[in-house]
Order: sequence, then C-alpha cells, then structure tokens
Amino acid sequence: MDKLPPKLIDLVARTRRVIEQDMAPLAGQVDRDCMWPEHSMRALADEGLLGLQVPEEFGGHGQGLLSLTVLTELVGQVCPSSALCFGMHCVGTAVIAAKATKFQQDEYLRPIARGEHITTLALAESGTGSHFYLPETSFAASDSGYVLNGTKQFITNGGHADSYVVSTAASDDHAAPGDFSCLIVDHDTSGMQWLEPWQGFGMRGNSSRGLRLADAHVPQTNLLGEEGDQVWYVFEVVAPYFLMAMAGTYLGIAQSAVDITSEHLRTRQHSHSGESLADVDALQTKFADMWIAVEKTRSLIHEAASRGDLGSPDALPFILACKADAGETAVQLANEAMTICGGQAYRENSRVAQMLRDARASHVMAPTTDLLRTWTGRALLGRPML
Ligand SMILES: Cc1cc2nc3c(=O)[nH]c(=O)nc-3n(C[C@H](O)[C@H](O)[C@H](O)COP(=O)(O)OP(=O)(O)OC[C@H]3O[C@@H](n4cnc5c(N)ncnc54)[C@H](O)[C@@H]3O)c2cc1C
Repeated sequence: MDKLPPKLIDLVARTRRVIEQDMAPLAGQVDRDCMWPEHSMRALADEGLLGLQVPEEFGGHGQGLLSLTVLTELVGQVCPSSALCFGMHCVGTAVIAAKATKFQQDEYLRPIARGEHITTLALAESGTGSHFYLPETSFAASDSGYVLNGTKQFITNGGHADSYVVSTAASDDHAAPGDFSCLIVDHDTSGMQWLEPWQGFGMRGNSSRGLRLADAHVPQTNLLGEEGDQVWYVFEVVAPYFLMAMAGTYLGIAQSAVDITSEHLRTRQHSHSGESLADVDALQTKFADMWIAVEKTRSLIHEAASRGDLGSPDALPFILACKADAGETAVQLANEAMTICGGQAYRENSRVAQMLRDARASHVMAPTTDLLRTWTGRALLGRPML
C-alpha cells in the first residue's frame, strides 16, 4: 500500500473509514439475512466514492484498474457482498464512460459522481449462460428509440440500482457472434419485470435477480457506442474492469482467510501442553504457504492493473489470468483456514464458512475460471478470443 500514488492513498483512507464505521458492523447480517448492503452503498456515496470510474471533468475521480482492485480488495476483506455490489457499479460506470455522449455524461456520469445514482451490468441470460457476450435479448428500432425483449439473469444490485447496462443481440440477423449492442435501461422503464430474488450459496447480499424485459422502450439517447460494436466493449472495458473488480474482491477474501488463520494460530493454546498452535512446525509451514499464495496473487493483480492502466500492449493475458487466480487462491485459502481454525471455523455460518461460500462464486461468475484460462492461453498464443 505504501507504493500507491497519493490520490489512491487518499481514496484508501476514505474507503477504510467507510468500512470501519458502516460496513463492518453489518457484514454478518448481510450474509445471514441475504440483505442488500444499502448502508454500504450509501456510505460509499456519502464519501464520494461512487464516482471512482467517472472522469474528473464530470466530477469523478477518473481512476483506472489499480484503484478499482485496491478498493474492492479492502471492502472484500470485510463484506464480499458489498465489494461485489460496489464492483459491479464501477464496471457499469466504466462501460457508460467509455464512449459517453453529452446526454449520457449529464444524465448518468455526473449524478454517479455526486453519489446520486447506482448502475450495474445486466448481461447474463439463462440460454447462453457463462457465454455472456452472446445475448439473445432482442432490440428493434421504434419511433423514439428501441424496444427490448428478453430475460436477464443473476443481475447484481437487481431491483436496487437506478440504471442497468443491458446487452442485446444486434438488430442485423447476419451479425457475427459477439456483435451485440448495450443500452442503459432506467429502473422505471415500462416493461421491466423483476423475477424472484435468487438466494446464493455465497455472496448472499448481492441481490442477484432475473429481469424480464417485455416491450421495454428505451430512448435512442441510451444506446452505448454504435449499434453492434459491443465486442469492442467486451475486451476494452467490460473484461478489464470486471476482472479487476472481481480479482480485488476475491483477493480480499483470501487476505481475510490469512488474517483469521494468523489470529487463530496465535491465540489457540492446548491446556495439556500449554503449546500455542503458532509453535507447531507443520502449522507454521502451512501458514507460510497461505501467505505466499496471497502475496503472489496480489503481485499478479497489481502488475495486471498497472499494465492495463498504462495501456501496455501485453496487458491482456495478465488481466485475464487475475480473476481465475484470485478465485482459486480465495477458495484454497478459505478451505485451508477452515482446517487450521478447527471446530470453531466448521461451525454453521462461521466467518470462515462464509468466506468459503463467498469465494466459490468466483468460479461460476462469467467469465468463469475455465473460460478465463482458455482466453489467457489464446491471448498468449496469438489466437482470436472468440
Ligand atoms: C454471485 C453472482 C453474481 C452475478 N452477478 C451478475 C451480474 O451482475 N450481471 C450479470 O450479467 N451476470 C451476473 N452473474 C451471472 C454470471 O456471470 C454467469 O453468467 C452465470 O453464473 C453463469 O451460470 P450458468 O449456470 O448459466 O453457467 P453455464 O454456462 O451453464 O456454465 C456452467 C459451467 O460450465 C462451464 N462451461 C460452459 N461452457 C464451457 C465451455 N465452452 N468450455 C469450458 N467450460 C464451459 C462454465 O465455466 C461453468 O463452470 C452472477 C453470478 C453469480 C453467481
């Protein structure tokens, strides 16, 4: 943290304040009651952090990938559901900001920077599943804009955000796969019908929900970029921002697994021998392996984010590898913490049990770990991504 740029050090201090005062006290309840963390999003807004990805000229912080991953790691250490909700808002913001028109700057980016607007991504569909870049939701031109029909699934911040960045199949039947469009759909658009809330194994506060769009009318002003150019967004904006936000979140879980294990090893003492677990050779070795794993993952993530922010031509495989690596580290370390922290950790809904459940989401959130490995290989071998 001491090597971070001054602006980011200030953002870290502000995020820590929000975490301590607002998020930590309610983190257990978020998981237990599947509670969408309104308090977290409100506190982030009040601290001026919702505009992390909004360019400075529109009142935001104009930050890139490194800031996103550093802040989501901090939040993820304490409340992974809040990190997911904040992360998806930041990714949605970055997608809007990438080619924002004057209208979109005034209607979305400035309110986001003022902490008055939450956005989020609605890409996934049950038909194409983890292949989120192949939407089947259709859009057709109307007098005033577009009419959308289709069903989205698993939308984080579902029902709570002020707008949704929705992907749709290109209107041209002969369009190439991945040649789709994205639009901003306001929360009060007619024709939107929210489906039953989904209760996850982990990430239980993220309010993932399905959304049916039945003749939803969206004004022409809300089209992002040009019709059908979203494959550009997928690799230039969605993938980098989403992958770094999620890599930070899962790194946060991995770090908290190390921290809770450290605490347990130092405090657990057997009565028959008076020996602390911290004095047991085998456990010292296991703990060292956990620490090495988290530090390696953090180095990869910061390297990837820095290369991405600099626009380095070889950034892509680093960025693609990050979320897969962070997810694997988080699952592995939460699992190890579950063993080392013994019976206390194996208790139903213990903090470690929650970490393990939250960490598992990483492998199924698209791009999934399997797909990311394939994409990383393709990027390294110079093969087309799709
Ligand atoms: C907590 C959570 C939050 C989410 N939030 C959002 C959100 O905000 N917005 C959004 O749009 N979506 C969101 N999603 C959806 C997510 O990104 C995925 O689209 C969804 O989890 C895919 O689930 P599925 O069962 O349809 O996957 P499937 O496509 O059925 O895949 C199942 C498994 O098969 C593997 N697989 C599939 N195809 C291949 C292949 N060709 N090669 C190798 N392996 C393959 C996958 O890697 C996966 O492990 C969220 C999901 C979760 C769990």
